[in-house]
Amino acid sequence: MKVGIIGGGLTGLVAAYDLTKNGHSVSVFEAGPELGGQVGTMTVGGGRVERYYHHIFTNDADIISLMDELELTKDMQWLESTVAFCVGNKIHPFVTALDLLSFSPIGFIDRVRLGLVGIYLQRYTDWRKLEHVTAKEWIIKYAGRSNYENVWGPLLKGKFGDTADEVGMVWYWGKVHQRFASRGKGMQKEKLGYLSGSFGRIADGLAQRIQSVGGVIRTGRPVSRVVVENGRVTGLQSGADSQADPFDAVIATVSSPILLKLVPELTGDYAARLRLARYQAALCMTLVLKQQLSPIYWLNVSDPTIPFPLAVEQTNLIDASNYGGKRIVYLSNYLSKDSPTYQMSKDHLLAFYLPHLKKINPNFNPDWLEDALLYREEAGQPIVTTHYSSKVPPHATPIAGLYLANTTQSYPEDRSMNISVRHGRLMAAMVAEAGRGVTG
Ligand SMILES: Cc1cc2nc3c(=O)[nH]c(=O)nc-3n(C[C@H](O)[C@H](O)[C@H](O)COP(=O)(O)OP(=O)(O)OC[C@H]3O[C@@H](n4cnc5c(N)ncnc54)[C@H](O)[C@@H]3O)c2cc1C
Repeated sequence: MKVGIIGGGLTGLVAAYDLTKNGHSVSVFEAGPELGGQVGTMTVGGGRVERYYHHIFTNDADIISLMDELELTKDMQWLESTVAFCVGNKIHPFVTALDLLSFSPIGFIDRVRLGLVGIYLQRYTDWRKLEHVTAKEWIIKYAGRSNYENVWGPLLKGKFGDTADEVGMVWYWGKVHQRFASRGKGMQKEKLGYLSGSFGRIADGLAQRIQSVGGVIRTGRPVSRVVVENGRVTGLQSGADSQADPFDAVIATVSSPILLKLVPELTGDYAARLRLARYQAALCMTLVLKQQLSPIYWLNVSDPTIPFPLAVEQTNLIDASNYGGKRIVYLSNYLSKDSPTYQMSKDHLLAFYLPHLKKINPNFNPDWLEDALLYREEAGQPIVTTHYSSKVPPHATPIAGLYLANTTQSYPEDRSMNISVRHGRLMAAMVAEAGRGVTG
């Protein structure tokens, strides 16, 4: 089989790796200058780090097994996480049962109720029964309004903004369930996984193996058209070439709106499902500081006067010596791509954010700032609404030989690197299987 892959993120590279391993001829087309997509990296203080904060959980079996295959497991670090809420200029730790019982922004009865609901969701597995209800409705009913307004509501708003009220309970169940399950039966302290030298090394390892067996990788090469003849995919138009490259099968790993543009032949129910896809855009500003901002890795900011809902201090998970002693803090926001904040220039956004850092650390001084980097991703987080299973487009499109694997198809689990690995492997298997049908 001659297979074309659109997108050099994790999903596309994993699919290419499995297909080349099995003797297929593969070409990957990546629009950007580098591979990795949402797990792309940058350099800070001589160290390599993700443009968007990344970690994995102990139960992310697909990516752990891929790293094993790529001989990267020896460089995995499993580290205790520190999670807290910043409410009313105070940092409240939120990791252990004791932290929960001491969590003063809510009353004691609500703290107990919150803990019990968490345990219930951890054990609950019949997620299909939650498909009809929104997270807001379910949380208010079972955990109470105060817990919604002070704890889970702000987290949902931080991720989904104005669309938070529409988010399906299955999405929330998926998050809580996975996180608790990752602690194991004894509910050990949470450990997060990080690959020394960044997860970008997975993309490097895959690319090296793909190319070593003759696979082709083209960066800076956006696909402009999927060529379809008589209901079957026949090639890809890319770059400035007027001539299309011929392929027997194509795997698209781009967002749903991009796929619709690349393949106008997609119509009917399939195109309708692609059009239903909605995303929150990710806006992530990395601050390079001379000093530690807070002692917390994952700081949920539940203060409506602070314009970012999350501060992730990478150097509270990974030692600052990996980045020449510099402290790295991601100020993360998920917004509509049309919102004024998403459109702001880096300098404006920095001026907007900086005064609020004193609410996290009263000693913060703008002199601590050495550098700021800004990255934006339009398809940052699919908005997962109620009855989502009926909205997900299948991987096999109605066009013969054309397959889709993107983050809108992560369900009931939220999108993650682990799911990208699983999807990439599944796409390779589906294409190979279809090829067997054609040839033999
Ligand atoms: C802020 C943020 C934090 C995250 N944190 C975590 C985390 O802690 N843990 C975790 O597991 N996951 C995390 N994720 C999610 C994870 O990074 C993604 O789910 C995963 O990387 C998606 O991979 P992908 O290959 O499916 O898509 P992408 O990485 O989006 O890859 C698609 C690729 O297609 C390319 N492309 C687009 N158009 C074209 C075209 N016309 N022609 C050719 N190429 C094209 C793009 O440039 C891109 O490289 C995070 C994501 C974000 C945004």
